[in-house]
Amino acid sequence: MSVKPSAVRTSKVPKVGFVSLGCPKALVDSERIITRLRSEGYQIAPDYDGADVVVVNTCGFLDSAKAESLDAIGEAMAKNGRVIVTGCMGVEEGRIRAEHPGVLAVTGPHQYEQVVNAVHDAVPPLHDPYVDLVPPEGLHLTPRHYAYLKISEGCNNRCSFCIIPSLRGDLASRPANHVMTEAERLVKAGVKELLVISQDTSAYGLDIKYAESPWKGQPLKARFLDLCSALGDLGAWVRLHYVYPYPHVDGVIPLMADGKILPYLDIPFQHASPAVLKAMRRPAHQEKTAARIAAWRNTCPDLAIRSTFIVGFPGETEEDFQFLLQWLKEARINRAGCFKYEPVAGAVANDLPGAVPEEVKEERWHRFMAAQQDVSTELLAEKVGRTIPVLIDEIDDEGAIGRTKWDAPEIDGAVYLDGETGLAPGDIVNVRITASDETDLEGELA
Ligand code: SF4
Repeated sequence: MSVKPSAVRTSKVPKVGFVSLGCPKALVDSERIITRLRSEGYQIAPDYDGADVVVVNTCGFLDSAKAESLDAIGEAMAKNGRVIVTGCMGVEEGRIRAEHPGVLAVTGPHQYEQVVNAVHDAVPPLHDPYVDLVPPEGLHLTPRHYAYLKISEGCNNRCSFCIIPSLRGDLASRPANHVMTEAERLVKAGVKELLVISQDTSAYGLDIKYAESPWKGQPLKARFLDLCSALGDLGAWVRLHYVYPYPHVDGVIPLMADGKILPYLDIPFQHASPAVLKAMRRPAHQEKTAARIAAWRNTCPDLAIRSTFIVGFPGETEEDFQFLLQWLKEARINRAGCFKYEPVAGAVANDLPGAVPEEVKEERWHRFMAAQQDVSTELLAEKVGRTIPVLIDEIDDEGAIGRTKWDAPEIDGAVYLDGETGLAPGDIVNVRITASDETDLEGELA
């Protein structure tokens, strides 16, 4: 499907003209599309008059039916001018566009989702606060000033310890303009920070071949870098989670250096030893990752990296573990969570030889956490004396608690501002950092 840009926002009930040609199967398709549009508050009109957009459900069975379909599209174009074509003739997009180059979108038979999406693009559904239970930005379980933005479902990787692909299927990316529409609504509703999530954020768009969709009058590719750049234009903090160090990730580092997106990468490395990574079947595992991180920091010195690791994976030797500790120090990972390996029912790793005894896992976990604390303490101490923006998360009796650009909510550290009870969650204030420990910072308003 391809769609031409030109969404209109109307304050009246959006009206969709509907022309249905063809057989009973096409009629059923029409009914499904109409039912969905009605449930979203669209008014359906049997003619073109006053319609914000017209959907023509075509037939392509016989040449005569095709000719009739092309005529119907021509009539809708002449009388209304904003036309979405669907149905059997939609498979001949080239022919339709050759005759009617101005159509907004062309979809094939049974592509209900795509037709409805094309209608959304042409004329967004009207939000009625008295009728709709769900606000336009959707329902969120996070505080009002930050929100998670899911860009895809599923995963194409097959890490040996993980069963997510068998539960959620392969990667299924959302069209870029759907992600952007949600993100923009969130920002308009007061969200200050967007947390981009998926199972594999850097693989975004691979499954839909980086399809373009219209955004603000321009085509926007469903590509990691393009999406990051567009999100960076919304004026909110944009934080990237679950990124794998594929080579193209290098491209977002300049966006971070320019302040368009936060200088923060959540990369679940899980390990550093090549042998363990191989047994884990991790994507994008490279022996030179520490050197790459150093290069990223050359471009963006403020880059913070958060990660998770597994110790005690089957076959992990003391040498593998020491390699991990050494790597952790060399890569200067700012924040890290560590898990002792546990088998998950159905995971391939359960059959691997070399199970690590529980007491060894426990001992490695403590050594890992101690090493990580040393790195974190050192990196946080370097922040003392700097004046930095802090996003306030909560206020209690003693003052305000916020976060820096290097800290995600719930998982990373905090900045404590004693006595600042006059601030509100969602405020972004400049703070001079006065003290640090192994996880958190203290500061005062600058
Ligand atoms: S752990 Fe591996 S397989 Fe599981 S969701 Fe993450 S990348 Fe995909």
